Amino acid sequence: MIKMMNAWVLRKPSLVDDRPLELVDVPVPVPRDDELLVRVSACGICRTDLHVVEGELPVRLSPVIPGHQIVGRVTAIGSTVADFQLSDRVGVAWLNRTCAKCKYCLSGRENLCEQALFTGWSVNGGFAEYAIAPASFTYRIPDDFEDIDAAPLLCAGIIGYRCLRLTGLSEQEWKGARLGIYGFGAAGHICIQLARARGAEVYVCTRDRERHQALAHELGATWVGDTAEEPPVKLDTAIIFAPAGELVPVALKALAKGGTLVLGGIHMSAIPSFDYSLIYGERMIRSVANNTRADGQEFLVEAASIPVRTHVQTFPFDQANDALIALKHDAIRGAGVLRF
Ligand SMILES: [Zn+2]
Ligand SMILES: [Zn+2]
Repeated sequence: MIKMMNAWVLRKPSLVDDRPLELVDVPVPVPRDDELLVRVSACGICRTDLHVVEGELPVRLSPVIPGHQIVGRVTAIGSTVADFQLSDRVGVAWLNRTCAKCKYCLSGRENLCEQALFTGWSVNGGFAEYAIAPASFTYRIPDDFEDIDAAPLLCAGIIGYRCLRLTGLSEQEWKGARLGIYGFGAAGHICIQLARARGAEVYVCTRDRERHQALAHELGATWVGDTAEEPPVKLDTAIIFAPAGELVPVALKALAKGGTLVLGGIHMSAIPSFDYSLIYGERMIRSVANNTRADGQEFLVEAASIPVRTHVQTFPFDQANDALIALKHDAIRGAGVLRF
């Protein structure tokens, strides 16, 4: 007899206010030889899920189960998997599988793999009772974190870590560095904790005084302003997490000479043209695309050592559409998580 499970599926991208996810019964997936079957206990909600559901990212699999910040326990193991056991606690993130042979995979840049598969976009994700994932792309969750608190680490956390890395600042250079963060949701609220622990001063530009600005103050921001407000000092480096291209010239204006502006989103609205003077002075702009497994592993170690405390707003499993609506309308303080 085929075992069935509850899952949220997207048949056709549409605005989240139309509640496009449908709760259906589907067969529990069967892990392949190199995969694990995970009983999901928590799944984070990410802006990328919103981009998948609303069709800003092209359809890769249809219907698809979204969700790529999965925490759960191993309940079945493929025949060639050696290093996991039943009931191990694991995390599954966005990068689901790579080809292991393209020039990117062979040069430590598997995040850019031409054949990469992504959880909750090109393969089914964690808005379901069970999910499968390749064991070698699965993380062990440090004991310091409860399931619900760990979920946002798996994308929001890892991406923030990679953004910090791509600023180009060394461990020494972080001490006393002035970091700007534009947009203060799930990624921003974790990123500030890493940056502060490394000794940086953090300047946060975000809308929403009650939720995002208040949380930024609480987490030790040196200065907090509105999205378009100019910080009182020049920033050594800055990260934009908000998917708003109009912030690029705003952030460049606040950036000191030689600084790097990192764009942390998978999707951004069009960037308006700007004067060459804004980027002159050897300022750099670079995007972040996905992450490598090394990013994930290094981040989880650093997060546990601080320890990072995620601020989580949970939604019961049957409220996936409501959770996405809340995210879209900026109504989540910290990170949203579906709990089972
Ligand atoms: Zn590859
Ligand atoms: Zn994500």
